Amino acid sequence: MLRRIFLALLLPAVALLGCTNGGDAPPAPSASETPAASAAAPDANAVLNDVVAALGAGNLTSITYSGTAWRIRNSFMQTPNASPPWPSRDEITNYRRTIDLSAPASLATGETFAQNLFLEPPVAGRYTQNIPADRTAWSDQLEIWLTPWGFVQGAKNNGATASRRTVDGTQYTVLSWQSPATQTAPSGLRYTVNGYIGADNLPARVETWVEHPFMGDFHVVQVYSGYRDFGGVKVPATIEQQRGGGGIFGVNVTAATANPADLTALLTPPPPPAGPGGPPGGGGPPTPPPVTAEQLAPGVHLITGGYVALVAEFSDHVLVFEAGQSEARGQRILDEVKQLVPGKPIRYIVNSHPHSDHTAGLVPFIREGATLVTHVNNVDFLRMALSTPRTLLGEPTLNPQLRGVDGVTVFEDATMRVELHSVPNGHTDGMLVAVVPSARTLFQADFTLPQPGATANPFVVTLANYVDANNVQFERYLAVHAAPMPQTRAQLLATIGK
Ligand SMILES: [Zn+2]
Repeated sequence: MLRRIFLALLLPAVALLGCTNGGDAPPAPSASETPAASAAAPDANAVLNDVVAALGAGNLTSITYSGTAWRIRNSFMQTPNASPPWPSRDEITNYRRTIDLSAPASLATGETFAQNLFLEPPVAGRYTQNIPADRTAWSDQLEIWLTPWGFVQGAKNNGATASRRTVDGTQYTVLSWQSPATQTAPSGLRYTVNGYIGADNLPARVETWVEHPFMGDFHVVQVYSGYRDFGGVKVPATIEQQRGGGGIFGVNVTAATANPADLTALLTPPPPPAGPGGPPGGGGPPTPPPVTAEQLAPGVHLITGGYVALVAEFSDHVLVFEAGQSEARGQRILDEVKQLVPGKPIRYIVNSHPHSDHTAGLVPFIREGATLVTHVNNVDFLRMALSTPRTLLGEPTLNPQLRGVDGVTVFEDATMRVELHSVPNGHTDGMLVAVVPSARTLFQADFTLPQPGATANPFVVTLANYVDANNVQFERYLAVHAAPMPQTRAQLLATIGK
């Protein structure tokens, strides 16, 4: 049953996203995976031995490789467009990664020269991905187990089963293994890893799933091609990691060494950059500030104490704009709305834009049955994400209702009017701001005004030009990221000299 639900939901999502690897959907993560008994079922041990031999991994305990890498600009779910492919990439030069297969542990370093989300000029920076042996979460360790060498090590450690599958017309022998019984998801399920072995006995792609509060059973895939021999060990010339249906990170390998002599040095992370702002001291996560509500006008409230949400009360329902930066914050906002406006259902939850810190709080509202209103450009991705099974979290699959909007969309009854304006810009192609005439308010996310005397970023300028060109009327300029002082329409227009 689990498998059927997963297949039914995964296949449309994959087709929607144009993923080229969806020809044969993988099984759901499952505690009791039983391979189909078949006369043609390959012998898993024989397959594994062939793969180890083809990789030259018989005596491999560690490996280091280098070249250039790339990553999507910013990070997953912080991209200018919601659905893949994500075209904006930043190069990582002097990339080197070292993996100790027995610890297991991994360190990757490199140099970046990247632009941020607010379109400011690119700056030099450092890339570091450090997974020391004490980071045992699957979300970290999968970065090791998905590599060709990590995959075979995991198969040796945990035992594997074998089957045959055809993907996009190519037949693969699939070796599958599961995490140890001591390493399980919140649901108690073990994690599944599948390696797709080509006719050359080399892994062409390796996949797993990890629990994610927004993405559910989050599918992570690494794709390999162009294996070359480096001193007896085969290393793919190109590596690409895909999440959410698209490539997010890749490497072009130009050099590699098996069992490097200086392993300890290679696994020692560089010191943090000089200057203030080092890692904070211990003490656990800070206590969230108390949730408070402020009435802007009759039936219009701001919920503060974290990412700010706006609440508009209609005659028989409520609309909420923004759901907070985490599932916990979303739940606190939802609870506060129920106290503020008892007895009226939350019919609409409006998402300003699809970046992860503006979508993480949506899940409690989807559970509540609210319709998610978002820009049309975000609908495919958000529907895929919110429809994905949540077996690793131990939660039922959500049943999201989505409504895509564009241009100006008005929600209005006898008591309330809320306008949603789509504002094209370079931060995201799926951005909505809310105008509430009765509160003389424009409410927005991420269009943060510059500090006094500083130049506005090009992103803020797009909103100022939009407001000016369309004569959008309001007085108060309010933000999901609360400003320390009240802000106004006049201050927004000042950024374009009006
Ligand atoms: Zn954003």
